[in-house]
Amino acid sequence: MRFLIFGPPGSGKGTYSSRIEDRINVEHIATGDMFREAVKKDTELGNKVKGYLDKGELVPDDLVNEVVRERLKETGMDNFILDGYPRTVEQAEFLDDIVNIDALILLDVTDEIIIERLSSRRICRECGEVFNKLFNPPEEEGVCDECDGELYQREDDKPKVIKDRIDTYENRSEPVIHYFEGKVPVVVNKCRKADASIEKMVESIIEQLKKRELVS
Ligand SMILES: [Zn+2]
Repeated sequence: MRFLIFGPPGSGKGTYSSRIEDRINVEHIATGDMFREAVKKDTELGNKVKGYLDKGELVPDDLVNEVVRERLKETGMDNFILDGYPRTVEQAEFLDDIVNIDALILLDVTDEIIIERLSSRRICRECGEVFNKLFNPPEEEGVCDECDGELYQREDDKPKVIKDRIDTYENRSEPVIHYFEGKVPVVVNKCRKADASIEKMVESIIEQLKKRELVS
């Protein structure tokens, strides 16, 4: 089982992927997390990546591809769900050359829902804990449950910026999704409720994968 997952920011990609990981025998590989961790741990890869990020540049395809290839080797090139990759058609071609993808899971969420969800997010200034007024509100508004720190809204989570993030996602991922359409089954999961139950959504994705005999 070799899956890709695509969805706009706020679609719950990371959350769904880790739940799917718990339910079926796949490893959730989030390339964004891999890079962040490498930077934090100051590894050789981390330093290379940091160089690009500091300059505000995209990490080049060659470097991303190599990192993903090495990571996939650790899985035996099987039983994974890739999140955050491929980001470009060049990366898609590379992936397609090294492994056969079984399905693409596409989270279909309206812009209104994304804006409602992301703009409900609050982060603790002190410890970084993330809350969401819709899913896990703090016990006391504006105050962190963990450390009593002040909660604030990231600049990124303000509606105007969210709209830009959605546009960027669409422009960038559309060609990649298009690349895989017709080559592999696309499993679309529609979400039309901002506070839709995560369990139900995950259940519905797994049901669809079963129906297509992609998982047993
Ligand atoms: Zn806190």
